[in-house]
Amino acid sequence: MKKVALFLFAGAGLIYACTRVPITGRSQLNLIPESTMQSMALQEYQTFLSQNKAVSPSVSKDAEMVRRVGGRIAQAVTTYMTQNNLGNEVASYKWEFNLVNDKQVNAWCMPGGKVVVYTGLLPVTQNETALACVMGHEIAHAIARHGNERMSQGLVAQGIQVAGAVALNKNPQAQNIFMQAFNVGGPLGLMAYGRQNELEADHLGLIFMAMAGYNPQEAVPFWTRMANAGGGNKPPELLSTHPSDDRRIAQLQKLMPEAMKYYRAK
Ligand SMILES: [Zn+2]
Repeated sequence: MKKVALFLFAGAGLIYACTRVPITGRSQLNLIPESTMQSMALQEYQTFLSQNKAVSPSVSKDAEMVRRVGGRIAQAVTTYMTQNNLGNEVASYKWEFNLVNDKQVNAWCMPGGKVVVYTGLLPVTQNETALACVMGHEIAHAIARHGNERMSQGLVAQGIQVAGAVALNKNPQAQNIFMQAFNVGGPLGLMAYGRQNELEADHLGLIFMAMAGYNPQEAVPFWTRMANAGGGNKPPELLSTHPSDDRRIAQLQKLMPEAMKYYRAK
């Protein structure tokens, strides 16, 4: 922490932000203005969509389902945040939910609420409630600002000063860290979040899906299916940096009573 403090006080005009994750209350270091995160994300998202065509909900029931599930979760999250005086954290979100034709077992959500689900995920989710597990988990990464946290750690490690939004946007090193944090250029959804962030996204995701009226109990069979989806060889992209299956399932079971308090069937 000493090194971090030194770095913080050394930078002129540095924005110091120690924030708390909703629901878990964990404190985290987020150095990057949310507006910067969102504009960087938007750029990458638009590039991604120009190279990967989204399936239109007007011709695909699956794309329609992705939009419906995302919309329900986003609405529930926004209501929760507003009721807990955190509404300003999601006020600038412009939610979008796209299904993209790709056989990867994957999904992601960028800062600012840009969500993409790959068609390869659907044979594993099998039903709408399980899709809500994944989308809740991915939306949780964004709400918990894991990308910002991850990038902030990268900036600290490389001693880059965060002098302001404009400078950061134009700083190739910072841009690089963003690309690494979100693994843009590679399989984009393979976000290199740490294990702690993954378990935290599971926790928030479970509650978000419950708030949106999806039975959180589906999370256990779904994540078990996910664990087996690689057929014992390569794990699905979504699981590449994830905690061990046993640990994940154990945590989900432990959190189930908490999540069930939020669940009202729709
Ligand atoms: Zn994750």
